[in-house]
Amino acid sequence: MNLHEYQGKELLESYGVAIQRGIVAHNVEEAVAAYEKLQADTGTKFAVVKAQIHAGGRGKGGGVKLAKNMDELKDFAGNIIGMMLKTPQTPGGVDGPGKLVRKVLIAEDSYAPDFDACKEFYVSVLMDRASKRNVIVYSTEGGMDIEKVAEETPHLVHKEFIDPTLGLQAFQKRKIAFNLGLNGKAMKEMTKFIGSLYKAFLGSDASMFEINPCLRTGDDRIIAVDCKVALDDNALFRHPKLAELRDTDEEDPTEVEAKSYGLNYVNLDGNVGCMVNGAGLAMATMDIIKLSGGDPANFLDVGGTADAARVEQAFRIILRDPKVKAILINIFGGIVRCDRVAQGVVDAYKNMGNINVPIIVRLQGTNADIAKTIIDESGLEVHSAILLQEAADLVKGVLQA
Ligand code: GDP
Ligand code: MN
Repeated sequence: MNLHEYQGKELLESYGVAIQRGIVAHNVEEAVAAYEKLQADTGTKFAVVKAQIHAGGRGKGGGVKLAKNMDELKDFAGNIIGMMLKTPQTPGGVDGPGKLVRKVLIAEDSYAPDFDACKEFYVSVLMDRASKRNVIVYSTEGGMDIEKVAEETPHLVHKEFIDPTLGLQAFQKRKIAFNLGLNGKAMKEMTKFIGSLYKAFLGSDASMFEINPCLRTGDDRIIAVDCKVALDDNALFRHPKLAELRDTDEEDPTEVEAKSYGLNYVNLDGNVGCMVNGAGLAMATMDIIKLSGGDPANFLDVGGTADAARVEQAFRIILRDPKVKAILINIFGGIVRCDRVAQGVVDAYKNMGNINVPIIVRLQGTNADIAKTIIDESGLEVHSAILLQEAADLVKGVLQA
């Protein structure tokens, strides 16, 4: 689960990480009040208006603007709220439709009073699967596209791996600060920043923190000006307060609906809808669809205990995708009996009416033979198969027809 910048900053601050202060606003009126309050609280002269969407690269797309007075602030807030912001990270990239901006963060100008005296760094914390450790990735080249820095000047991207038993050591924090070219007060501030950041990462069961830019101000403070936070969904039950921060407006609406039915659904670009139980079987099914010349339209795991009602919900969700030219249902009946799934498919088919894509059903396991009879005798346009290869051949046949 991803957080908005303003939510991420609140999380960081609760662990003592220094952040660029800001107030979230949903309309121009709130933006004006936020600017006034920020000026009173922080003494900031200017304010940054920052679009809050789950995507980076907002600055280049026109979603981050520095307002030098109230008129500019009203102007920027008015333009950014409600805009379809396009960045390389929004759906379809800069040529896609963009993402609707529903709120902005009105933030203090962290680069004042002397913009040129500031230095932008890159700092992130991730879980590195290869080394089975958390890693702090950092660079002197902050504020810009880190992928580009890694490609063109890889020696400027440093990594500090953290031993899970020992934890982050003091010498590691100093090494990071040193490699960033800091000394004196800024060095101390950076070691403190890294320490708090890592505590926040562990404490929130995060899978990624990315602070870009991490700013050294003219007076040698270190603050998070931007932050991208991804939390581990599987650990959210331990963090009910964080779980509440989910913003379903930012997620694929079909995926959100699927989740509410207990379905594990991921939308893809292909033309064959798949309904499968178990993630491993789902992957294998997607492979066989590819091998038979199709492309999966989705990943859908209905779970090991799929009943007829869930099968029907899954069916409805798959059919909503206009790209779907065929559906392959591949269920292994272990706990759930195949005949019940078959009945679920037939009922869903009848309930929904005008389904005009061919459906291939492969039910294997308990009562597979009864299931096949139910489908064959239903009088519906449903093809049944028992072997996976038969199912794949049927998919190939209907795609070619
Ligand atoms: P992103 O484009 O989505 O990564 O959004 P960021 O929060 O990183 O902001 C983009 C850029 O805006 C930063 O790299 C800074 O150069 C600039 N920026 C952000 N905050 C301030 C600020 O307080 N003052 C000034 N002058 N520039 C800022
Ligand atoms: Mn950024």
